[in-house]
Amino acid sequence: MSLRNIEDRRRCRAELERQAHQDQLTGLAEPLCPGRAATVALDEVDTGVGMSAVIFLDLDRLKVINDSLGHEIGDAILKVVGDRLRSSIRPTDMVARFGGDEFVMVCSGLSRAADALDVAQRISDSLAAPIVMADRTFHVSAAVGVAMVTSAYTDTDDLIRDADAAMYQAKSAGRASIRAFDPGTHDKALRRLDFESTVRSGHGPEQWELHYQPQCSIETGEVIGFEALARWRHPERGLLMPDEFISSLEDAGLIAELDHFVLRRAAAFAASPAISPLHISVNVSAGQLLAADFPDFVTSVLADAGLPSERLTIEITESGMIQDLAVARRTLRTLRDLGVGVSVDDFGTGFSALSYLAELPVTELKIDRSFVTRSDTPTGRSLLEGIVSLATSMAVSCVAEGVESQDQLDLLAKAGCSTFQGYLVAPAMQEHEVETFLKQAEGRHQPRIPR
Ligand code: C2E
Ligand code: CA
Ligand code: CA
Repeated sequence: MSLRNIEDRRRCRAELERQAHQDQLTGLAEPLCPGRAATVALDEVDTGVGMSAVIFLDLDRLKVINDSLGHEIGDAILKVVGDRLRSSIRPTDMVARFGGDEFVMVCSGLSRAADALDVAQRISDSLAAPIVMADRTFHVSAAVGVAMVTSAYTDTDDLIRDADAAMYQAKSAGRASIRAFDPGTHDKALRRLDFESTVRSGHGPEQWELHYQPQCSIETGEVIGFEALARWRHPERGLLMPDEFISSLEDAGLIAELDHFVLRRAAAFAASPAISPLHISVNVSAGQLLAADFPDFVTSVLADAGLPSERLTIEITESGMIQDLAVARRTLRTLRDLGVGVSVDDFGTGFSALSYLAELPVTELKIDRSFVTRSDTPTGRSLLEGIVSLATSMAVSCVAEGVESQDQLDLLAKAGCSTFQGYLVAPAMQEHEVETFLKQAEGRHQPRIPR
């Protein structure tokens, strides 16, 4: 690579910037340009002029400012951010607003990949200084994603997409976080797209199925009901567990499709002779609590299946319930009025104030598995006992999940917990296995109950 070529390239880049339409608001280059700048960066891979990186940045909480203080303040803040970004990078680097509160930067001439993270840190630091405006002080921060330009890329869109994916990871890691793109993220993004297109095209239900885990009385050992747990039978990837697809569906705004499927299927199964008259518990995502038509949906599901409402319990996580207390209280009240049970799932993991929970019309606390697992230490044991006595004083029932050993069961029995589920009895099983399981359970001797 001759010096002259490098010089050419600089001129080309300067020309690109000059020609670029400017974003009226920030004075930065317009959204089209990061693509062009990334093209130049891609060319450089072949010529070996140092390394380049695409940095994707998304401001935290700007929407809150826009909504509460108006767009004028929001726009003024964007302009300050644009200025700070410009001055955090070299004149030969490119920064453009990518619409809304997102920015894309292309930094070249880096000697190592770690330099890109240093630049990202510098950018993040530059945003940390408070912005004083209209007699107020604002603190802005951003999620920053970094993708290194490598010869594996042939398309600039892919580069920007990967920097964007890294930014998403940074977002979920908390405010002012920085993440570098790793190809694992790419696979995840592909899987997510696959889930999304399956659900959007209406093919989700063909691949979804429910597995059922028995719940037993601690006192008598009898099976009293089942918890329905979603599974995705993927044509190429086999049987997938919820932790592989629930969050993708939530992020894509498609979780309601699954929730509705699960409720319908579980209610129909509960009404069938296979498990009648046992109880069925169904996990529902927090979003349903906020959906105004959810109680109506439950009503129609019960009617269609011919299932008495008393035999259905809806499990919603503690953190889901406290997202919007007023709405949660109203929806849960309506469900209670229908006669449906309401369980606080993963109880004890959400750090919510107990006074909040006490206000909610719930019928059951579901002790999270982590408390059962840790019950072999004195602290763990007291925590477990504390939760059970809390349930007793709230006059709600108490279900322990993840019980794997007789010792754990003995402890729960002593503490006064009424119901349990876990591998000690059985893992979740397919629909057709339930009947056989119930027949065997009848003849089998019940778990030993301490006196
Ligand atoms: P969860 O509601 O807390 O469910 C309990 C999880 O613990 C289940 O995992 C279950 O298979 C597992 N488990 C049960 N007994 C034991 C045991 O003795 N030991 C151990 N180590 N694990 C045990 P699964 O089926 O993978 O579900 C994970 C989470 O996915 C659930 O946690 C629930 O939050 C969510 N989920 C499952 N099905 C649905 C659904 O239909 N809709 C929604 N929105 N979420 C669901
Ligand atoms: Ca559950
Ligand atoms: Ca749990």
